[in-house]
Amino acid sequence: MNKETDFHLSGQLGREFKTITAMIDLYCEKHHQINTVKFQRCADCEQFRNYVKQRLDRCPYGENKPSCKQCPIHCYKPQQKVHSQTIMRYSGPKMIIKHPIMAIKHLIHDKRAIPERNKEILSNYQKRKTLLNNK
Ligand SMILES: [Zn+2]
Repeated sequence: MNKETDFHLSGQLGREFKTITAMIDLYCEKHHQINTVKFQRCADCEQFRNYVKQRLDRCPYGENKPSCKQCPIHCYKPQQKVHSQTIMRYSGPKMIIKHPIMAIKHLIHDKRAIPERNKEILSNYQKRKTLLNNK
């Protein structure tokens, strides 16, 4: 278990993480697999996935997050941002065939307005910390 990444993402964060994982795996399947019999995410993609998970965990919109495409906050580091765009460009169009339900949900979510931010909205990370402190 890894302390940095072993936590649960709830609400929209969890849905988004599932969708992004599927996209990373589609990309990895095509570009990084040596053993074609059994898919196993490569170390680089696993690391990138953990990065995404940490960003989602700290998203200041919390469970109500807007889609990353619309988000006014740019929370990815430049290099990771470019990497995510490369993955999206490859996997985005394939999602509708490989994971139609996820793809449709994602498209609907993409159209949703950006929610207002206020002090009551906590990131997944802040929520987790609050829970731990109240124990
Ligand atoms: Zn890979």
